[in-house]
Amino acid sequence: MYELIIIGAGPCGIAAAIEAERRGVSYLMLEHGSLAMSLTKYPIYMTFASSPENLELGGHPFPTGGEKPTRLEAIRYFRRVAEVEQVKVHQYEKVTGVEKGAHFTVKTQKRDGTTGAYETANIALAIGYFDHPNMLGIPGEENPERCTHFYTEPSPYYGMNVAVIGGKNSAVEAALQLYRAGVKVSLVYRRAELPASVKPWVRPDIENRIKTGAIAAYFSTNIRSINPTTITLEQDGRTFELENDFVFALTGYSPDQSVLRGLGVEIDAATGKPRHDEATMETNVPGLFLVGVIAAGYDANKIFIENGRFHGKAVVDTILARR
Ligand SMILES: Cc1cc2nc3c(=O)[nH]c(=O)nc-3n(C[C@H](O)[C@H](O)[C@H](O)COP(=O)(O)OP(=O)(O)OC[C@H]3O[C@@H](n4cnc5c(N)ncnc54)[C@H](O)[C@@H]3O)c2cc1C
Repeated sequence: MYELIIIGAGPCGIAAAIEAERRGVSYLMLEHGSLAMSLTKYPIYMTFASSPENLELGGHPFPTGGEKPTRLEAIRYFRRVAEVEQVKVHQYEKVTGVEKGAHFTVKTQKRDGTTGAYETANIALAIGYFDHPNMLGIPGEENPERCTHFYTEPSPYYGMNVAVIGGKNSAVEAALQLYRAGVKVSLVYRRAELPASVKPWVRPDIENRIKTGAIAAYFSTNIRSINPTTITLEQDGRTFELENDFVFALTGYSPDQSVLRGLGVEIDAATGKPRHDEATMETNVPGLFLVGVIAAGYDANKIFIENGRFHGKAVVDTILARR
């Protein structure tokens, strides 16, 4: 019987584990991939917008080569901090369900095909949102030879016709990187213009590439299907085909709220925000806490590593106060 099970070993889950470890709360962290798994799916050559101090966990200094950390530096840092703090984590053990009786039973699936079950008084759900891309719901989307929802690097697409679907930062940054790697890029966005959230230092770059025609932009345009050698687009009620080799559907990600709903957490229909006390991070289900971006609902820009790394402290404070 644990005092706390942390589900998910992203940066915010690791920060929660450090709190539990240092303050003598009996805990275990379960991760369905490897430590800081979500970052391994980010663009390979990305640099964080945050300064390294704002990503630090447990007060461990985060020295970086440049002003801002690269993805690789961050992965190494989070891994090293977890190692030094000796956080207790089972990697490659996916949580498949949680039941609530007098306490919680957390059910898992391991890599070797066996299953696990853990009893715990409290749960910190730190599963992020990056595993669940927003699907377009169109024919051809499921074909991995033609379409992906994760952009990592441009080189495999040199000289090819690539459509990037979406207009927010991840889509715009991917479009620019692909263009600079010699890819013929079309940016397809359903709205009339790029959103205000595009990073101010990226906006002039993309706008100029569109103005000069280096990147072909299709605004107010929806993609209707991904065909063997083309995509079908619809603009102002008119459909047309565009030659295409690969599609990056970078239309955002949504949290998997099935565990929350299954346990009776109230979720705001408009914002997707699970009901919780922001001081303790406890949901309306006693003993079930939120850690990291899962607390944000549908707007993943409200919680990130910078602020989500402090949620674990609130959880551990609450558990200790109730002992
Ligand atoms: C391109 C990009 C750039 C970004 N730049 C910044 C930045 O500059 N600064 C900043 O603060 N934030 C930034 N962010 C956001 C930040 O990375 C996320 O907010 C952060 O990773 C959230 O951490 P988390 O621990 O809540 O979730 P995650 O990092 O998503 O971790 C969740 C973990 O839970 C695991 N998991 C999921 N389901 C299960 C299950 N059923 N069982 C077991 N494990 C499970 C996943 O494998 C994953 O490892 C950026 C994001 C992106 C995509």
